[in-house]
Amino acid sequence: MPIPNYLKEIGFNETRKAGRTCFEARCPCGCEKFHIYKNKFTKEEKALMKPHDDAWRFYCNVSYPDGTQYKRDENGKWRHYIIKECVWEEIKEIETTPEMATDYVWNEKGELRLYYVKSGVWEELEIPEMPPFASTEAYKAACSECGREFILFDNRFYGYDAVLASEGMKRDLEYKPTYAQKKFKDGKPRRLFFQIENFDTLEEFCKDMEEEYDEVTFSNSFSWIWVYIIDENGKKSKLFEYETA
Ligand SMILES: [Zn+2]
Repeated sequence: MPIPNYLKEIGFNETRKAGRTCFEARCPCGCEKFHIYKNKFTKEEKALMKPHDDAWRFYCNVSYPDGTQYKRDENGKWRHYIIKECVWEEIKEIETTPEMATDYVWNEKGELRLYYVKSGVWEELEIPEMPPFASTEAYKAACSECGREFILFDNRFYGYDAVLASEGMKRDLEYKPTYAQKKFKDGKPRRLFFQIENFDTLEEFCKDMEEEYDEVTFSNSFSWIWVYIIDENGKKSKLFEYETA
């Protein structure tokens, strides 16, 4: 696939192999070293996210208070599980409603309803909605010579879901993220290396999607992105990766 349109200005030294495109970054001024920034929520924004976070934390604490979980089976019998190597394994069936447990059902409208039981009494747990800005994940880079800034990734605008499947995604397109610089021990700027995954060609992509798209839309709707930073000694480490579909 081509370099994503929004990265075209800085992308160079491109190589393509089996659905993966790799390239490096160079500022139009000629410099290849950048200071790196990641979006960060402010105190005020965190306060808006807190009701949702608190409700989830509460639910998770009740769900797995001792690393085990109670679940009702299809006959309404309670069973007690423990997680072993990422698989829930049953410990035993229990006779009565446990002291603390959670349960969830999907109602007729398809909405998730969460419940918890404490001392044998079931209560519905309201999880307040997350404000739409809260799902924003964004990175930018500033040229270490001329200071010009470039967006490396913003999950509201780039990648498959953002470009082609935005329905149902909660995102705030007007939101202006606050960025914080990533501090490195040596205090030096970094070179950048990108790897993008998608179909090789626009034709394949359109055929698979059964829809006509232009080159810009195709290039920005990659399904996976990896971004690496390279220090002065040539040591490469992953800055982030994001599955966008
Ligand atoms: Zn520059």
